[in-house]
Amino acid sequence: YQAKEVRGRACTYAGRRDVNSIERLRLLGDLGRAVERGELFVRYQPQVDAHTGVVVGAEALVRWRHPELGPVGPDRFIPLAEQSGLIAGVTAVVLDQALADAARWSAAGFTPSVSVNLSARLLTDHDLPALVADGLRRHSVAACALVLEITETGIVSDPARARAVVRRLRALGCSVAVDDYGTGQASLAYLMDLEVDELKIDRSFVTGMTSDRARAVIVRSTVQMARELGLRVVAEGVTDAPTQRALAALGCHTAQGEHVGGPMTADAVLDLLRVRHAGATPRLD
Ligand code: C2E
Ligand code: MG
Ligand code: MG
Ligand code: MG
Repeated sequence: YQAKEVRGRACTYAGRRDVNSIERLRLLGDLGRAVERGELFVRYQPQVDAHTGVVVGAEALVRWRHPELGPVGPDRFIPLAEQSGLIAGVTAVVLDQALADAARWSAAGFTPSVSVNLSARLLTDHDLPALVADGLRRHSVAACALVLEITETGIVSDPARARAVVRRLRALGCSVAVDDYGTGQASLAYLMDLEVDELKIDRSFVTGMTSDRARAVIVRSTVQMARELGLRVVAEGVTDAPTQRALAALGCHTAQGEHVGGPMTADAVLDLLRVRHAGATPRLD
């Protein structure tokens, strides 16, 4: 009787694991098709000047509209794409769409920066700078409008290679940002060595910083160090006006988060640019 029960439990456990891996396998199998059939699309999260509220940039965030499963978030399929080698194709789609939209915004008279996330794995891909250069040329977008976001994981796993790729991307005229700063293992001294342009403070430190002393201290010292190293500082996860005000007071350049706007279409970004671009009145709230 006891043995049976144990076996039953083991079975349930294995069953659950199977459901998980079956879903993973399914998504993995469908992902290649998704890239080819245009099931991937891009949403943009706006970034504003923390002081004035003027829209200065937008981050491209990939989405997958699965024909049977519905929307699948990047946290579910980006890791699969990274493991399977499909990440280069996914990134090519996102980069192409982001540059096409940047060209449209530019044609409408606005030149916000557009940020594209690069997986750690791509930092060791020697074809990446050529892919970026080709995209910029095809869409006639100025390199200085493109920001490439890399994570600390990518930097630390192969420092020499990452440094070489970062150098080549910056040589094209693009900016390079360190994403989710504070959650990985990279020190600021290390980043200085890498010669990046921008630091994005992870939202786990930013959200709630107005009511949590430890977070406030971390954000303040990070902003100060980054500024002294000559880096542009972006705060992620800005969820309310007091947080944006606090960040502006600390000298943080740019704010991104729900308070500014959630992920939206390229058209919605254009609407926001029309309302909150050059000539927009400073935010006093
Ligand atoms: P990330 O690059 O740090 O992007 C910011 C994520 O935080 C986005 O989630 C965004 O919707 C969310 N977010 C921004 N502000 C707030 C806020 O105020 N509150 C809350 N709760 N969330 C906020 P998303 O779109 O689900 O993307 C998750 C992650 O997936 C991204 O984190 C990025 O690491 C990855 N990702 C997204 N698109 C791409 C891509 O094209 N390529 C690669 N390699 N990774 C991508
Ligand atoms: Mg990012
Ligand atoms: Mg981030
Ligand atoms: Mg993040």
